[in-house]
Amino acid sequence: MQFLKTTTNKYLFLVSVLGFFTFFAFNDFQIYTNFKWIITFALAGAILLLNHYPILLPPKGNSLSMDSSIYLASLFLFGLNLTLAVLLINSILFAFTQRKIVWWKHIFNFSSYVLMIAISYYIYTLFGGTIGSIHINNSVPYLISLLTYFALNVIFIGLFFILAAAESFESVFKELIKEAISPYLSTLMLSLVLAILMDAKKLFGLFLFTCIAFLLSLAFKQHFHLFKEISEKANKDFLTGLNNHGYFKEILVEEVAAAKENDQPLCVVLLDIDDFKKYNDLYGHIEGDHLLQEFGLLIKTAAEQENFIVARYGGEEFSIIMPNTTCQKAISFMNELRKKTNDTYYKGVERLPYGCLSFSAGIAECEKETYNTSELLNKADQAMYSAKGQGKNLVHIYNQYSEYSTHRSLSLEKELEEAEHQLRIFLSKDVYTYRHSKRVYQYAVDFSRILTLSDYERKTLILGALIHDIGKIEIPRDILNKKGKLEPHEWEMMKMHVTWGKEIISTNKKLEDLIPLVELHHERYDGNGYPYGLKGKSIPKLARILCIIDSFDAMTTERPYQKTKTFEEAIIELRTCSGKQFDPQFVEPFIAIIKQQDNSMVSHKTEQLVI
Ligand code: GH3
Ligand code: MG
Ligand code: MG
Repeated sequence: MQFLKTTTNKYLFLVSVLGFFTFFAFNDFQIYTNFKWIITFALAGAILLLNHYPILLPPKGNSLSMDSSIYLASLFLFGLNLTLAVLLINSILFAFTQRKIVWWKHIFNFSSYVLMIAISYYIYTLFGGTIGSIHINNSVPYLISLLTYFALNVIFIGLFFILAAAESFESVFKELIKEAISPYLSTLMLSLVLAILMDAKKLFGLFLFTCIAFLLSLAFKQHFHLFKEISEKANKDFLTGLNNHGYFKEILVEEVAAAKENDQPLCVVLLDIDDFKKYNDLYGHIEGDHLLQEFGLLIKTAAEQENFIVARYGGEEFSIIMPNTTCQKAISFMNELRKKTNDTYYKGVERLPYGCLSFSAGIAECEKETYNTSELLNKADQAMYSAKGQGKNLVHIYNQYSEYSTHRSLSLEKELEEAEHQLRIFLSKDVYTYRHSKRVYQYAVDFSRILTLSDYERKTLILGALIHDIGKIEIPRDILNKKGKLEPHEWEMMKMHVTWGKEIISTNKKLEDLIPLVELHHERYDGNGYPYGLKGKSIPKLARILCIIDSFDAMTTERPYQKTKTFEEAIIELRTCSGKQFDPQFVEPFIAIIKQQDNSMVSHKTEQLVI
């Protein structure tokens, strides 16, 4: 028999056989009086009505029907036969009205009810309970049979869940008992109330009870909808309509547990809008709120297509849970999103430093060893700050850049901090250059690791990389921010930044060693550079190295309206210009560094061309 292959089906079959057997074996099918027929149909009708108007219970909307109260009241007043007849009529009517429910569920329901009713009946009589009117001396048998009924119900349903959904015995029964005990016990108590009402007033008693149960159902329905509305509100962020921080953390715990259980990858992303404070300062908080709403919608739309879960993490920070997603897939999704964000026009974003809306994001992948969700969020946070630190409008995966943060804490730290501080002040009007400098500095850190340099050279290269464009402070804003091509006289002024840079740092004795880098990073290997047109080895080594790094970042970054080169294209360009613009001995080693990073690193979108 095909049907009996699974344990669940065997269980369903067994309960059904037992139920049908009990129904026929313990039923004497006596001829009813007219009154008994009326009672039977009235009870069946009441059950049908109350099944249609169940009591909805928060939080999940499980419904509780009063049918058990009626079966039990009927059992105490009229005995087993009439109650089983009510059940049969009701089950037939129910099967006809609910044809969408699969047939075996109807059979299983009917059979389990037969067993619950019959066993409770025999327990009741076994403990001395008498059928007919309601008596206080029957209290103990009432209570025991009510509890039997409840226990059997939990067992029948619980076993089904354990077998069908492969859930653990403990969790199913705990859940069932926790959820069902109080409403279920009240239904059982109500069965006694109904029995007393019917004992005293027969059909009128049943009518009263049904009316009360019906009205209660309506009231509970309202209450349930209210609960749903409020709990939805409690989980949503009022501004963007996305999940809020608290709810996000709840979902994250569940998703991480599920990913671990099913051995599936999971990524978490934290993203922070770049320079949002500036937007608020420019246009006010109300416009800022609008931007958050629109951006929230953009992420939500993109994430929904992939079944990702988005939340507003706080302020201008958002978070995304990506179930069943590796970090490779996560980064490509995030880069798409980043590009879309850059390319979407939002009112006023042209005055932001990048000329468009941008964000920095960190991705952390959940690993087997991941201790808890805080650890995961912490990693994503670190990756995000690494992206911020490297010039913003970037997506970083945790790990790949973790060395970056430790590296910063090495001996150079103090000088770097000072230099960066000065640079920040100097270049406060030119945030493009400031960020470009920070990226060039980062390339220098990475590149210096594979070059054979003395400690002094390494330090000079790194500091020089950070500060090399300081002279741009002298260039008027309108030239710096000009969108089109520069006029010849503007170009000449732009070229002066190397000389002005030298003058600026010459005022600080500590920065003296950086002068060649600042002044000579636009010299070309073939002698066609500026300011002196030095050639080959007459250009200091560190300036030759810096020239490659500086040019690479200039090629691969752009303003939103300017076409940029991909890393691959820029690598081709480096090779083409090797021996002309660049010292060939450093070109290939630098390309190797870039290739190493390219897998995980994202090409920078918006930046100014470096002169
Ligand atoms: P960064 O690129 O480093 O992230 O710079 P930022 O300016 O975006 O970040 P910062 O943390 O300095 O400032 C965040 C700003 O976000 C400050 C606050 O005014 C603004 N903000 C936070 N929540 C809201 C909000 O609900 N509405 C509005 N309009 N602004 C908000
Ligand atoms: Mg922030
Ligand atoms: Mg921000």
